[in-house]
Amino acid sequence: MRILQVASEVHPYSKTGGLADMVGALSRALARKGHQVDIVTPAYRGVASRFLGIRPAQWRFSLPLGSEWVTGQLLRHDVEAGLTVWFLDYPEFFDRSGIYNEHQLDYPDNAARFTLLAKVAFLLSRYWEPTPAVVHCHDWQAGLVPLLIHHARVAEGWHSAPSTLFTIHNLAYQGWFPASQWGLTNLPASWFHRDSAEAFGQVNFLKAGLKLADALSTVSPRYSREICTAEFGCGLEAQLVRREYELTGILNGVDYEEWNTTSNPALPFPFSVVALEGKASNKEALQRELGLPVEPHVPLFANISRLTGQKGMDIQLSALRHLCSEGARFQFVLLGSGDPVLEKAYQEWAQQNGNRVAVRLGFDAALAQRIEAGADFYLMPSRFEPCGLNQLYSLRYGTIPIVRATGGLDDSVVDIRENPDAATGIKFDEASAAALSHAIRKALAVFSEPSLLAQFRRNGMQADFSWERQASEYVALYEHLLHET
Ligand code: ADP
Repeated sequence: MRILQVASEVHPYSKTGGLADMVGALSRALARKGHQVDIVTPAYRGVASRFLGIRPAQWRFSLPLGSEWVTGQLLRHDVEAGLTVWFLDYPEFFDRSGIYNEHQLDYPDNAARFTLLAKVAFLLSRYWEPTPAVVHCHDWQAGLVPLLIHHARVAEGWHSAPSTLFTIHNLAYQGWFPASQWGLTNLPASWFHRDSAEAFGQVNFLKAGLKLADALSTVSPRYSREICTAEFGCGLEAQLVRREYELTGILNGVDYEEWNTTSNPALPFPFSVVALEGKASNKEALQRELGLPVEPHVPLFANISRLTGQKGMDIQLSALRHLCSEGARFQFVLLGSGDPVLEKAYQEWAQQNGNRVAVRLGFDAALAQRIEAGADFYLMPSRFEPCGLNQLYSLRYGTIPIVRATGGLDDSVVDIRENPDAATGIKFDEASAAALSHAIRKALAVFSEPSLLAQFRRNGMQADFSWERQASEYVALYEHLLHET
C-alpha cells in the first residue's frame, strides 16, 4: 500500500517532541513491512547539509497562497527500500532558527507556513502515480490536508481520492488563527463553516482535520477516551463524541534501534537485563558528568521534558522541595527548556542544592540517552499525556517510571496494585505535589529493597513496545479505511 505521511517534524531531521519520534519510527516500521511510505515535511534550516543523501527532486511547485503566488522545489531523501522523505524547500518560510517559534514567540506567519505544507501534500497526493491509498496527517500543522482532499472529492469529483487519517498527538495545540487567514486556503468562503475549520469565528486548523478526515486516531487508547470529556477535550469534546466510533487510540512504540542499551554509541557502558552492572557504571559516569557526588546508594531521579504546565513541572518542583526539607536522601537531574518562570525556579533551586540537584537547560539528545541510562527513577507527573515516550524509554533502560495515571502513561506502566508480579512502575492519581511526594516515598522504599528493585527493572526491560507491533495496528486501521471509503 502507498502511504503518504504529512508532518511538521520528523526524527532525525527535525524535532521538538514526541511527534517527530513517532512519524520517523512508524514510517520506517511500515516500510519494513513492505509498504511504500512517503513523508512530506518542511526543509528547515541546515537539514540538507546535515544529511548527505538529500538531493533536489525533479518536482517544483507553483501555487496560490492567498493573494500571493509561491514557487519552490522539493528535496528528496531515499532513506531505505520503501521509504522516501520529501522536503518542502521554501527558505522564506522554513530557513529559520526555530520550527514554530523563537524566544517563546510563535512566528506570525505560521498559518501561511503550514497552509503551504498542506497544499503541497495535497498536490502530491493528487498528482502522484500511483495515488497514495492513505494520507496520514499529524497534528494541527497538517489539519488542512483532509479539508483540501475532501473539497476536491466533493467540488471537483475526485472519486479516486485517498482515504485520510488524522492523528491527534496533542489536542492542546490546535492552530488558532484570525478568520482573515482563511483566504490562504483559496477555498470558497462558503467552505468556512463550523463543520470545517471554523470555531468561534476563527480558523482552527486542527478542527478541519477532526471534522473532515475519514478517521481519527490518538496516540494511546486512554487519551482517545479522555479527549471525549470536558476535562481533556480542550473545547472540542462535543465534536469528538460525535466521531467517537471513528476514533481509535494506538499507543506509540519505541525505536529500539535508537533506544538500545547494548550497542549504543551514546552510552558510556552497555548493559542489559542480564548484565545490570553496566547500569551502575552509567550512573556513576552521569553523577560525575553532572557534578553530583558519586553515591551509588543514593537514588537518582530524572526528568527530560518541555517545561510546561502540561508536564506538571510545578507539581514536581514543590514535591521535590518538600521531600528535601523533610531530609529525604535522593539526587535529581532535569534536562529541558520552556516556560522561563519554571526555568528560573529550577535553576535557583539547583543553585541552592548543588550537592543533590543538577539542572541542564536546553535540548540535548545524547545527554537524554545518558540520563535514561544512569538514572534509577524517571518522573512524569503530567496533567495530561497523550502518549509520552520517556516512560517507554525508561522501561527499556531499567529506569523505573513514576507516572500520573493519565493518557498513555496509564496505558504503558503497570503499578504494583494492578499486578504485583508484573509491576513496572509507580502510578499516582491526583495531579498534586502531595500525591507525587507519596509516590516518590514509595520509590525510596522500592530502592531500599534490592530484590524488589530488580524485579521492577526486569519487568520493565522485558516489556515490548516495539514499532513492529504498533505499526500493525496502523496497517489494520488503514485497511479498514480502504474498505469503508
Ligand atoms: P512531548 O511530545 O509532549 O514533548 P513526549 O514524551 O511524547 O513529550 O516526547 C518527548 C521527546 O522529546 C522524547 O523523545 C524526549 O526524550 C525528547 N526531549 C524532550 N525534551 C528534551 C531535551 N531537553 N533534550 C533532549 N530530548 C528531549
